[in-house]
Amino acid sequence: MEQPLLEVKNLTCGYQNKPVFTQVNLSLYRGQLSGLVGPSGSGKSTLMKAILGLIHPWAGEIWFRGKRLQPGTSPPRVGYVPQVETVDWNFPVTAEEVVMMGRYQKQRMLPWASRGDRTAARELLNRVGVAHIARQPIGELSGGQQQRVFLARALVGEPEIVLLDEPTSSSDLQVQHELLHLLADLNQQGLTILLSTHDLNSVATHLPWVVCFNHGLICQGQPLDIFTPANLERTFGAQMVVF
Ligand code: ADP
Ligand code: MG
Repeated sequence: MEQPLLEVKNLTCGYQNKPVFTQVNLSLYRGQLSGLVGPSGSGKSTLMKAILGLIHPWAGEIWFRGKRLQPGTSPPRVGYVPQVETVDWNFPVTAEEVVMMGRYQKQRMLPWASRGDRTAARELLNRVGVAHIARQPIGELSGGQQQRVFLARALVGEPEIVLLDEPTSSSDLQVQHELLHLLADLNQQGLTILLSTHDLNSVATHLPWVVCFNHGLICQGQPLDIFTPANLERTFGAQMVVF
């Protein structure tokens, strides 16, 4: 059997003394493009943050390429696009500067950008289809453009896997569709991708693999196989889903 790229073993997470989920097991394989689907408050962001080492799990283990990660450390080559509402920054940091910051995440002070930084940022913006807005202030971009800028930033360091938290939830259908197409392209180029969403419609037709989550793993598989009324009911409860 192929070794998973990322493996979550018996993971239990919570806040203060309230658990969000207990004993979750999940394997992600190299080359997968998967959706983590569940209603708001079901623990999707918590699971992603635990994988990224941003919160300490109560129990369980996270393995990356067959090695156990120390709790609270992030996998070596992982990119993250946090849930972003449209940013209305009132200082003029440009799209390419946002991407360049990705190169210096672990430093307290940003150095002056080198020509290499700028070229790398341009290349990444080009890769996500927004090279033309490199010099525009991030606050003046549309939500969909901002999303691509943050995706470009997540691609700094050539990650093997990128986690995107609710990348489609604050955009209209056309923008969602375009983003999912872009993610499919990046996936074709070899990137492993996990995105979370509470919006079934946007993923059912676009994602080859779906993990249904509601305070724990409900089921996983290809959307057509697993989106049965019983599974949808177990995942979304009374929130009815219309295709
Ligand atoms: P989702 O991303 O699926 O909407 P979350 O992982 O954000 O779900 O939240 C799961 C549960 O944990 C919710 O009940 C939420 O209120 C709670 N929660 C999330 N973050 C915190 C926090 N920092 N402190 C306390 N409770 C939190
Ligand atoms: Mg969330």
